[in-house]
Amino acid sequence: MGCFGLPGGNAFDSLLWSGLASKVRSARPSSGRPGAIQTMLKAISTYIYVRERLHPGLLDKLVSGGAQTIEIFGARQHLDYANRKQHVREIADWFRTSGVPLHSVHAPLYADYEWGRTGSPPINIASTDRAARIEAMDEIKRAIELAEQIPFRFLIQHIGLPNESYSEHKFEAAMTSVEHLRAFAKPLGVRVLLENIPNDLSSPERLLEFIRVTHFGDVGVCFDTGHAHMVSDVPQTFESLKNHIHSTHVHDNAKDRDSHLWPGAGTINWKETLELLNTAPHRPPLLLEIDGDEKINPVEKMNEIFGQLVPA
Ligand SMILES: [Zn+2]
Repeated sequence: MGCFGLPGGNAFDSLLWSGLASKVRSARPSSGRPGAIQTMLKAISTYIYVRERLHPGLLDKLVSGGAQTIEIFGARQHLDYANRKQHVREIADWFRTSGVPLHSVHAPLYADYEWGRTGSPPINIASTDRAARIEAMDEIKRAIELAEQIPFRFLIQHIGLPNESYSEHKFEAAMTSVEHLRAFAKPLGVRVLLENIPNDLSSPERLLEFIRVTHFGDVGVCFDTGHAHMVSDVPQTFESLKNHIHSTHVHDNAKDRDSHLWPGAGTINWKETLELLNTAPHRPPLLLEIDGDEKINPVEKMNEIFGQLVPA
């Protein structure tokens, strides 16, 4: 499984991925030629349907749009990960029968069913309030436990809230949290990936510092194109994080706000971005993380975008 850069996976992990690897090999006709561009795996986050309860019909749509692997956005109203007898089982059955691997799960941002509107504070692993941090980790662990029913490889984790300022205390709190989460995730075959988000705790420099100081060799990065573009730019952020990138969040914006648009609808240079992503040594998938828009048919748009970004 060298092409995924992840030696030492457990048994179900390698079983799951050996099936996928043959698909990847056939999707990479040029892989035998040195220097030829290899095709990235086509992937999408269920975030595009986050306002709806996730069901097999929605997952089928993502596959007909061209997705070869999927990220689930961890929000209770979307996938009730705490409801393991019914909702999780229904989704687990879909993954088992479709043979499509679950690539990753995005850690929840809220612990309730309504984006925090019930008054529950947002989940923040960098909180300096120990009790709040423990509550946050309990909720994230419920989402990690999905792996018992639907094996997946990566948990995508934010450090702090959007626009959060830096402090040494918060940074240390985040290190303690991630240490705990990775220990919990490891026996389930899951690795933690930290995401570059627009705040002072998650700049490329801070993420590199985090990985260097903690010596967490199994903690990597989910490279978010839209966030890189908003905060600085894609090439600079990519080059700093390149060697740690195991997954992506691919979306566009006009640098004004985190709008999660389809590639091409904002101001990112996609030709340059794709050339860069293709040089990432751990071969991340091209994973779309798009804000749903009722005027755009996701299946048609996915086919169009994958056709443009991932050469056949
Ligand atoms: Zn993201």
